[in-house]
Amino acid sequence: MAAYVNRSVSMMAGDGPHNVAMNNGTVRVNMTNVDSPLQIFVRAKKKINDIFVEIDDYVKDAVAFMHAVSGDNGVATPQDVANVEAYISKVQAIREVLKRDHMKVAFFGRTSNGKSTVINAMLHDKILPSGIGHTTNCFLQVEGSDTDEAYIKTEGSEEKLNVQSVSQLGHALCASRLAENALVRVSWPREMCALLRDDVVLVDSPGVDVTADTDDWIDRYCLDADVFVLVANAESTLMVTEKNFFHKVSTKISQPNIFILNNRWDASASEPEYLEQVRTQHANRCVDFLARELRVCSPKEAEERIFFVSAKEALLTRMREREKPVSSPVLADGHQVRYFEFVDFERKFSECISQSAVRTKFAQHSRRGKCIAGDVCSALDQVYGLACSQKAARVERQRILQEQLSAIEDQLTSVTREMKAKIGKMVESVEHKVSLTLSQEIRRLAALVDEHAAPFRTERAALEAYKRALHRHVEAGLGQRLKQRLSSDIGHEMDAAQRDMAERMYAVLPPQRRAAAAAVVAPHHQPFEVLYRLNCDNLCADFHEDLSFRFSYGITALIQRFQGRNTNKIALKNPPQYTPIPPAIGPAAPSSEIVRATTAGIGPLSAEEWGMVSRLAMGALTSQGTMGGLLLSGLLLKTVGWRVVAVTGAVWGALYLYERLTWTAKAQERVFKRQYVAHASKKLRLIVDLTSANCSHQVQQELSTMFARLCRLVDEATTELDGELTEVRAAAARLDEAAAAAKRLRNKANYLAHELELFDDAFLKQ
Ligand code: GDP
Repeated sequence: MAAYVNRSVSMMAGDGPHNVAMNNGTVRVNMTNVDSPLQIFVRAKKKINDIFVEIDDYVKDAVAFMHAVSGDNGVATPQDVANVEAYISKVQAIREVLKRDHMKVAFFGRTSNGKSTVINAMLHDKILPSGIGHTTNCFLQVEGSDTDEAYIKTEGSEEKLNVQSVSQLGHALCASRLAENALVRVSWPREMCALLRDDVVLVDSPGVDVTADTDDWIDRYCLDADVFVLVANAESTLMVTEKNFFHKVSTKISQPNIFILNNRWDASASEPEYLEQVRTQHANRCVDFLARELRVCSPKEAEERIFFVSAKEALLTRMREREKPVSSPVLADGHQVRYFEFVDFERKFSECISQSAVRTKFAQHSRRGKCIAGDVCSALDQVYGLACSQKAARVERQRILQEQLSAIEDQLTSVTREMKAKIGKMVESVEHKVSLTLSQEIRRLAALVDEHAAPFRTERAALEAYKRALHRHVEAGLGQRLKQRLSSDIGHEMDAAQRDMAERMYAVLPPQRRAAAAAVVAPHHQPFEVLYRLNCDNLCADFHEDLSFRFSYGITALIQRFQGRNTNKIALKNPPQYTPIPPAIGPAAPSSEIVRATTAGIGPLSAEEWGMVSRLAMGALTSQGTMGGLLLSGLLLKTVGWRVVAVTGAVWGALYLYERLTWTAKAQERVFKRQYVAHASKKLRLIVDLTSANCSHQVQQELSTMFARLCRLVDEATTELDGELTEVRAAAARLDEAAAAAKRLRNKANYLAHELELFDDAFLKQ
């Protein structure tokens, strides 16, 4: 057992905290003690705190993200958001617990074994009252105060009772009526004690011999204790009450860390001859108790947890070090060895409590943290998966829309080109048809005019009314005829063209728009009709009839015929001819031929001769009994003989008489109509091109309008598709962003889980 004595002698007092004198007479402990095993807990606490700060931020970020991607068209349901949101309070709760997490050591033993003295020695100060008179039956928990003041709080009260010294604390404890086994929390400035600074909480118990109700103690103060210190009296052996208490502890807590301090070992100094023997005896009993009775550790480990100390001496030594006024009895022999053992105890205790507290306190936090990170990660994973699949769907839709749009554009270009050609062809065909039909109708204008059966009178007013009625008749008749001949033809052609156009455009439109298009482009409600604007009133406004009697074989008429002038003004008595008369021939042609035939017998005359003859004839006619008449008569008599002249004269006279007698109103009407037909035909021929162009224009207009309407439908469809494309594109971008953010956050969850793994490796898996 010499090992017990010699062990850790190297743990010199210098290993402990250095002390610094303060102005106000108190001594402040030098806080820089990075070698202390307690620092493991301190570092672990800081590390896991930092990780939980990150987890806290992370969960808040994740909640903000989930909110952003929830709602309509979102990738997260309100339930998903609520699930992640719940972790905020959970993390907060863990952080709160973490803040309060500390290492707890509870001291047990019989009254006056020196529990308070041990605590004071460990704290390097007389903080707890000790002595024969101190028999409080409450628990005293010494913990670090965040402020510079020392105070106590009794159980169930938040009132801070100020204490400046141990005597005050004693009085304060006596003054307050404390319930049995109540807890009194003594807050002491951390700066004053290294243990307190390192988050160690020390609990002094009333003494296991004071009360029988130790079960209650264990439940209330021991379940969260990391280390138990049994302060035994080295002057006697372990008592049954002490043993019983720890039996109860070991049934409630698995593998409690128990240290046994055989205190008052200084008393053995008076009997040095039995020192080793007594020590061995005590040590063996203690090992037996821990390893065999309680089975909380192996005998080897138990040997490491049994110490022979003098708390009183240790306290005295430390008080002296801190230059505190103490009554200084002479220390017994071997006090240095006992002091070193006390320091050794502190070292082992520090290692044990630090490791145990890290394991019991932080392992569960680390586990919880990993669970939270994992849960949030899987929620984000789900969001990420959904965002990716929805984005893929949007991208596919985008591709389809783009294809549709470019297909529509291509088809529209080709259909437009085709339709343009078709309209052009149609327009040309209509123009040709109208032109042909109108020309044909003009040729049978005479028949149309003849159909006008209004009574004809030659008085000016009646004649004007007759003319107006004839204009209207011709206008209506021509219009009617054109309509009859062209309408159905053009109508059918138009129908076919429009149907074809609509069909082609339907093919261009996306299927869902075709039904709407069918309603808009209902094929003709009314059949298409060409309007022929033949305004005869205006067209024939310059028509002037010539109804004066003219003898067909009068000299003037003959001369005019020969000269071929004013052909359209010569009145003929030939019956009306309905067959087309080529304009080049005209009504004057037969007369000229007759004249030419008549004059064939007298041989051809030169132009000068004819001019002279006509002048003579005119002169003869206009001035009777003049020299012209005589000369003409003489010339005729001399040339053909008087008999021929007489017969010709008789025939000529008879013809004149006949024509004069037949120059009735009916004849005048016929002449009027012929003149009108000639005039109107000429005028109408002038407007054939105009009218056909006008008709074709109407057709063009109709088809173009129809095509424009169809194009507008296509336009609407493409605008709609464009709108949808923009929306889909924006949605895809949003989903892409959401997926990227979810991935980022998911990765951060992995990072945090990894951090916790590192934490476990560094602090828990030792
Ligand atoms: P508690 O009731 O267990 O808290 O015991 P205390 O700490 O109050 O100590 C009771 C008495 O024992 C006090 O007078 C102490 O001075 C004295 N005492 C404590 N430890 C030692 C020690 O190691 N040696 C000696 N000789 N007396 C001690």
